[in-house]
Amino acid sequence: MDNLRILIIGGGIGGLTSAIALCRDGHAVTVIERDPTWSVYGVGIIQQSNVLRAAQALGILEGYLAAGVGFDAVEIFIPSGHKVARVPGHPVAPGLPVNLGIGRPALHALLGDTAIAAGAEVRLGLTAQILDDTGAAVNATFSDGSHGTWDLVIAADGVHSTTRTRVLPEAQAPEFTGQSVWRYNFPRPADLDALQVYNGPTGVGLVPISESLMYMYVTTPEPDNPRYPTEGLAARMRAKLAGTAPAIQALADTITDDHGVVYRPLEVNLVTGPWHKGRVVLLGDAVHATTPHLGQGAGMAIEDSVVLAQEIAAADTPEQAFAAYRDRRFERCRYIVEKSLAICHGQIGKGPPVDNAAATAEMFDVVAQPI
Ligand SMILES: Cc1cc2nc3c(=O)[nH]c(=O)nc-3n(C[C@H](O)[C@H](O)[C@H](O)COP(=O)(O)OP(=O)(O)OC[C@H]3O[C@@H](n4cnc5c(N)ncnc54)[C@H](O)[C@@H]3O)c2cc1C
Repeated sequence: MDNLRILIIGGGIGGLTSAIALCRDGHAVTVIERDPTWSVYGVGIIQQSNVLRAAQALGILEGYLAAGVGFDAVEIFIPSGHKVARVPGHPVAPGLPVNLGIGRPALHALLGDTAIAAGAEVRLGLTAQILDDTGAAVNATFSDGSHGTWDLVIAADGVHSTTRTRVLPEAQAPEFTGQSVWRYNFPRPADLDALQVYNGPTGVGLVPISESLMYMYVTTPEPDNPRYPTEGLAARMRAKLAGTAPAIQALADTITDDHGVVYRPLEVNLVTGPWHKGRVVLLGDAVHATTPHLGQGAGMAIEDSVVLAQEIAAADTPEQAFAAYRDRRFERCRYIVEKSLAICHGQIGKGPPVDNAAATAEMFDVVAQPI
């Protein structure tokens, strides 16, 4: 299918990478984003080399490498702070780092700027109020009363996708895992050249995201799924780090800015039925939201974008394209969601403990497979 008018709902990682791929294939793309400020929070994410391979397919690899920082190893520490292993990784293709740490704002700027430069129209502060699929096209009416007609609609509106509940009302909804994550940025020590993972009842990781920055993540059991006010978050995060290794305690002492703490309950969802209805298809966390234990959620959304664009190019009908896209993506995304959840449940006693290092090594083999 060529020269389509495509509406993308959600200007996050999956929506923007879809916009880049589809604009480059010659389609006319409009992105609507609910957040009028189009902002993201300030910590970072890890992208493994399968994601960099997808970035290469999208033509944005150079920008990725410039906006983040590559590293090849994972270092494992026991709760006392003693390093027990330095595990080297292997990139999926020569010349790529095994992992890239990147700040969310830097990634957002890269994807947003590239999508707009490729020709996407981005409209902020809008949601779709009505999606009327006539069979021949989709008539959409937005929250500001404006409307238009598109050949296809891609919903990349995240884990709490309202498009999913509207278009696939029978699909699974997100569930809270019992675990939450706390994150905070710090200056990066000059000698931090790996992801450092501190095992223990409170899991801690240090992730380089630029030449000068790293972020800390801390996973804690939160069985009652509390909601904390911003005021006091820094003190709560410091308290959660009591009893951790001396190096982590030293960093904890410098957690003082309530607004710098990003607290997030961890939710999962896997839509096991179709990922589309008619001319509307879903992508990313809207259909497969994972916990971050394998660091692959955004990676799966980015790979979705590459595959969906390929299938739209190859197919004669939306039905063919969307069915082929889901067929290529489902098993890989299912693996990431289920394996990540098993690690999460093992950490909080809801399942047998999972050897994190072995699970990560297995994941690298799985995601090295072609998409
Ligand atoms: C704690 C944590 C750590 C993570 N760490 C990593 C990591 O290290 N590596 C990794 O690869 N992944 C990681 N992830 C996962 C990653 O953040 C997600 O998988 C990824 O953001 C999914 O992209 P998406 O585009 O599907 O959704 P999102 O990034 O959530 O984007 C959805 C967009 O849609 C907009 N939107 C929502 N509703 C509407 C609407 N009705 N109309 C219009 N717009 C709407 C939102 O404002 C948002 O901009 C992590 C996730 C968490 C929670």
